[in-house]
Amino acid sequence: MTLMTGAQYETSLRKMNYKLYMFGEEITNWVDHPIIRPSLNAVRISYDLAQDPEYAELMTATSHLTGNTVNRFGHLHQSTDDLIKKIKMLRLMGRKTCACFQRCAGMDAMNAAFGMTYEMDEKLGTNYHQRFLAIFKKIQDEDLIVAAGVTDAKGDRGAPPHQQADPDLFVRIVEKNGDGIVVCGAKCHTTAATNAHMALVMPTMALRPEDKDYAVSFITPSDAEGIVYIFGRQPGDTRKTEGTFDSGNMKYGSQESLMVFDHLFVPWDHVLMCGETEWAGPFVERFASYHRASYGGCKAGVGDVLIGAAALMADYNGTAKASHIKDKLVEMIHLNETLYSCGIACSCESFKTPAGNFMVDLLLANVCKHNITRFPYEITKIMEDIAGGIMVTLPSAKDLEHPVAGPYMKKYFAGSEVPAENRMKLLRLIENMCFGTGAMGYKTESMHGAGSPQAQRVQIQRYGNLQNKKELAKAILDITD
Ligand code: SF4
Ligand code: FE
Repeated sequence: MTLMTGAQYETSLRKMNYKLYMFGEEITNWVDHPIIRPSLNAVRISYDLAQDPEYAELMTATSHLTGNTVNRFGHLHQSTDDLIKKIKMLRLMGRKTCACFQRCAGMDAMNAAFGMTYEMDEKLGTNYHQRFLAIFKKIQDEDLIVAAGVTDAKGDRGAPPHQQADPDLFVRIVEKNGDGIVVCGAKCHTTAATNAHMALVMPTMALRPEDKDYAVSFITPSDAEGIVYIFGRQPGDTRKTEGTFDSGNMKYGSQESLMVFDHLFVPWDHVLMCGETEWAGPFVERFASYHRASYGGCKAGVGDVLIGAAALMADYNGTAKASHIKDKLVEMIHLNETLYSCGIACSCESFKTPAGNFMVDLLLANVCKHNITRFPYEITKIMEDIAGGIMVTLPSAKDLEHPVAGPYMKKYFAGSEVPAENRMKLLRLIENMCFGTGAMGYKTESMHGAGSPQAQRVQIQRYGNLQNKKELAKAILDITD
């Protein structure tokens, strides 16, 4: 089997055995739960689109391991063209879902692990790469979802892992034996946690030799005994339980969970790093660079929907012909296409790693994500401006159905030649993307996902090559000192 259908994916999740908590209760039906379901739908569409011949070129690829057609989310990039297609695929997915569809984190983690384990083995004589390949073949062949466990709890941000008051504030090895390792700790805001079959865990940052126990990477089944999930809230999440358009995006959404490892056992053949502190930084940096590039696709796709929503709102409000509205829409397009350009650019400038897969240009990937910490805020600001204050003062969808309140709403909320209901739905989508569950995925995630802005500034300084730029200035001036 190489391509699962959306229905098969859904069935496969029903067979998982997650230990999951939300709102102070254990959740046993993660597939049909109204708060979780939209996030599952967003992942599921990656399967549905791969079955559609119209999208086959973007959504599928040829496995360099088996020659089979595989989902591009389970592919190791073999060329610059693969990386460009990845960005286009993510933009397509963003357009279809208007949400974080979650599957990219695992794709980026697997591409990072493929390259890093190869380079580690070359230097250290370990056999991590063969272990990774054996698991990866199963993931690719069975078309599985992989979550990336990256961000540690961190506790006192001023202290390294081994100096934390609680040693579990960074994921660590607490025991090694003949069969494998036992780990404790937690990964915060793990995307796709309970929509995934497997999790690939890696260190969150560069480590010093004293932090040997914290230099750990592994792949585990997502429902292994010893993993506990605590589902993350999003602003306005309980609106999803109302079953109306007040949720803003009834079909799709995202999810993040606290993923706790309470003495999780990992067999040796699933361990990809075990004490090699000097490799922790490069490993997470490689993942982050792939993922910073990915944002240039997904956020541009979501941005397309938002620009459409803003333009439609102008139509509904009868303001579309106003020159300042036209100009604001142009600004939104300009900002959004700049994000996409960055994603494409760092892919075009990609290079082949020693392992053979392709890696994005590191400077440009960081510039891409750095713009993403800014532009979605500008885009939503303009959308809010065009929508008007009604976006946050609108009564509920249920009032529209009420025998007394409903007719008033239909009368007073109707737009320019559109019924109140259509205008209200659109306002709710805009509200959702500015302040609700969608804002979590489009704005806060743009700020902090794949690293907060300062992390990109550090890399931009590192790869910006100021010395070369000084030489250029000197050459113009014939200065030879
Ligand atoms: Fe994918 Fe974007 Fe979500 Fe990251 S933020 S997992 S790149 S959709
Ligand atoms: Fe993300």
